[in-house]
Amino acid sequence: TLPNLPLLSALSSHPPAKVAIIHNSSRKAFNYSSLLRDIFRWRSVLSKLGSDARDKRIAIMGENSYQFVVCLLAATSLPRTIAVPLCPSHTTPEITYQLNDADCCAIVTTERFKEKLAPLVNGRDFVIYEDVELPPSENVTIAKDPSDAIDTSGIILYTSGTSGNPKGVVIPNATLHAQASSLIKAWEIAPRDTILHTLPLHHIHGILNALLVPLFVGATIVFQFPFAAGPVLSLLAHEDASAPEISIYTAVPTVYARLSTLYRSMPPDKQASITDAIPKSLHLAMCGSAALPDPLRDGWAQLSGGHPQLLERYGMTEVGMALSQPLKESERASGSVGKPLPGVYARLVDKDTLEVLYQSVGWQSEQWITKKPEGDGQVLGEIELSGPTIFKEYWRKPDATVGSFVTDASGRNWFRTGDIAGVDSAGRWWIKGRESMDIIKSGGEKLSALEIEREILSLVGIAECAVVGLPSPEWGQAVATVIVMQANVEPITYDSLKAELKKRLTGYKIPKELKIVEQIPRNQMGKVNKKTLVKQVWPEKF
Ligand code: ATP
Ligand code: MG
Repeated sequence: TLPNLPLLSALSSHPPAKVAIIHNSSRKAFNYSSLLRDIFRWRSVLSKLGSDARDKRIAIMGENSYQFVVCLLAATSLPRTIAVPLCPSHTTPEITYQLNDADCCAIVTTERFKEKLAPLVNGRDFVIYEDVELPPSENVTIAKDPSDAIDTSGIILYTSGTSGNPKGVVIPNATLHAQASSLIKAWEIAPRDTILHTLPLHHIHGILNALLVPLFVGATIVFQFPFAAGPVLSLLAHEDASAPEISIYTAVPTVYARLSTLYRSMPPDKQASITDAIPKSLHLAMCGSAALPDPLRDGWAQLSGGHPQLLERYGMTEVGMALSQPLKESERASGSVGKPLPGVYARLVDKDTLEVLYQSVGWQSEQWITKKPEGDGQVLGEIELSGPTIFKEYWRKPDATVGSFVTDASGRNWFRTGDIAGVDSAGRWWIKGRESMDIIKSGGEKLSALEIEREILSLVGIAECAVVGLPSPEWGQAVATVIVMQANVEPITYDSLKAELKKRLTGYKIPKELKIVEQIPRNQMGKVNKKTLVKQVWPEKF
């Protein structure tokens, strides 16, 4: 008998022979019945780890595979146990930091990462999947009564570490359930769906949107690991009739950039067959985890022939997903991240006065507290979030936890995201970036680096860019940009950059400095730490 947890009881309610997970490389398929049985068998293995500990954290590192999913779900089904998924491509110091910070009593991994992890074991239990002798497979039932005790078990996910050291975010099973339910409703995910999963499994996007959501509804997940643009494009276009037909794909902007680059390098007849095939099987393509610049959206539109359009949404490790464009393509405003998802309370707060400007609850209601903007106008402020999908604590960081919540007069706790957004008259949200890195305070104006990046990226020959604020005695901060040119393109000069941007942006938004570089350093999720970038590129300013 397995405990009555929302996910386990969902798994047991799906048709047992229905395929839950496919490994695309080997075409090996695993159904819901074997998933449930294997969770049960691994639960008994994992329950013996860290025997002295009352509360356990079990680190798991694996390739994106059925086995990884089994171990992850088995760990979260144990009382007082938290699974800590680790990223295989993280460096030794990064992994050591997470193992120590989460105070893990055990590491579970595969033969392939044994050598990498062995030096970090440090007295912990060390389990290699392939070496484990599993108890015999049995028919599994689910306990009758819901298991409150185990609802406090769950996972710790580390934030991407874009703005500093990654923080461990505690996400109990109950919160994961609330997060998944909201997405299933908003995006109408159904058992008939087949979702292509190419995301890392140590991050909320890969865990929630592409793994737990399909498992909750009884859909099929296809792992293509490691990510490579060729096989992904081929799967999306269903080129190989023996491959699974994909109906949903979700990825980060840099992945869509790579798909577009590959597509553009293909001969016209190959392009035509891809563009013809994609809209036939794929009905939902989503993007998030970082801002989606217009050229990437356009690149995807070209590749897919206009449908499905990229659905943009906004989320965080701390909150799951919070804002999403509507499912109906005709109702999406390009560049906006839509409205709060079902069950999500969102409000916009003035950074300086702390005044609440606008509040909206899921799909139900909205309220303008300040004057509603007119025409294309937007009211700007920090995004604050509340409700059952929001985390409650950073792991062993009580000060950080306290510092990131505010309580309103009714006693409701609001999480301060640190992200700045605009809300327009239709109640749609537009992300302007992080207060700490993307909002540049120059000459008394607050500028969004993301808006300026969008314009620079739409110029010919630019591959990547990052707009930053440089310390400036005259302006407070001066707008500056780092640019990577496309291959074999002459570097853009400052004068021509300025001349081009003059046609698109008001004067004070135009960068005062330009540096061309070979590469902009990005983390696993394709994000840039602008605080370190700016010091690397302009050390003399600090
Ligand atoms: P750290 O908190 O360690 O600095 P991180 O914030 O990058 O890292 P995540 O939780 O992975 O870690 O990312 C959440 C952040 O990603 C959001 O706070 C927001 O700044 C950004 N983000 C997510 N979705 C979008 C989007 N659609 N558009 C713009 N930014 C987005
Ligand atoms: Mg963050």
